[in-house]
Amino acid sequence: MNNKWLRQTIQSFKPYAAPNINENIVIDANESPYNIFDFPKVAEAFLARMKQTPSYHYPDPFAGELRQALAGYVGCEADEVLVGNGGDEIISLVMNTFLNPGDVLLTHAPTFDIYGLDAEVLGAEVVTVPDLDGYRRDCDGFLEKIKELQPKVTVLCNPNNPTGELLPMSYVEAVLQASENPVVVDEAYLEFSGVPSIITKLSQYDNLIVIRTLSKAFGLAGCRVGYGVAQKEVIDALSLTKLVYNLNVLSQNAALSALEYADEILAHNIPPTLAARDVFYKALEDVPEITMYPSATNFVLIRVPDGPAMDKALRAADISVRSYKAENLKNCLRITITTEDVVRKVVSVLKEEVKKHA
Ligand SMILES: *Cc1c(COP(=O)(O)O)cnc(C)c1O
Repeated sequence: MNNKWLRQTIQSFKPYAAPNINENIVIDANESPYNIFDFPKVAEAFLARMKQTPSYHYPDPFAGELRQALAGYVGCEADEVLVGNGGDEIISLVMNTFLNPGDVLLTHAPTFDIYGLDAEVLGAEVVTVPDLDGYRRDCDGFLEKIKELQPKVTVLCNPNNPTGELLPMSYVEAVLQASENPVVVDEAYLEFSGVPSIITKLSQYDNLIVIRTLSKAFGLAGCRVGYGVAQKEVIDALSLTKLVYNLNVLSQNAALSALEYADEILAHNIPPTLAARDVFYKALEDVPEITMYPSATNFVLIRVPDGPAMDKALRAADISVRSYKAENLKNCLRITITTEDVVRKVVSVLKEEVKKHA
């Protein structure tokens, strides 16, 4: 194919290489270890819903029942919720809705790659504010940049992927107040942090767009259900370019069944994850070769003496983690926290391997 056929903004894009995973313990994508269909009541509810859903009908374009359930879950109105094929779809809709070619998208670095990719496809300019030492966000620098550039879209990932850092709500509000334009607050991991969502302040901020997902704490990554929360006018704007039938009935019914038992699912999934995360931090606290960054999520970012060697040692032990090549994450690995059992296996490989560098 002639490369010139591609739109100019993507001519230098490299194909997204989904990693080849041959390992049995897969802790590279912050997935939950828990299957919602292992909760008998959830499985039953799902099958009952599917029986009443004729396959020949198109799904409800706005997933009315689901947005009502999500509104109940986060505490807002149904018309303040937009459901998407993963949080990824909502991110893409935000960019499609607000960014003209040449507009500035501001975010911090390192963070989730998708924001910058979507913006680049549209020909927007991506500006990032690098973290301070220890992967603490440069909060003052970020506010200054907003005031200086008034970016068309600002993205704050909170808690941040891949660093795990949680910023207080007062800072998120400072960002919303400094910006005259839309601000995306990505709360994909909020449930693990135990703090209230910025959604509680939604009525005060017409520029706030919150990204949430059922992929992480609920363990629905395979069903692709994410959602955006914003004031109604913003939701209506985001809906302008949405694919009409963006969420299929299987996913809508799976999400509805999960939300019906949200309390039980979260009470089952989250405490053991946080306990396993404590075990991880404790087990490595007296290993000076490994730096661990504080996390409010179901993953921990660590820095080791030799990242590629550590990745190799983990693979040899049948464990796949996320290892980074980017300069700002040199020798860093992001380890999804699942069960204590897995944590102990990971810790023993990490300890064994760093001995070579002692
Ligand atoms: C996982 C994740 C999402 C959304 O994931 P979906 O599976 O598309 O819902 C959004 N933001 C961040 C930072 C994530 O890590």
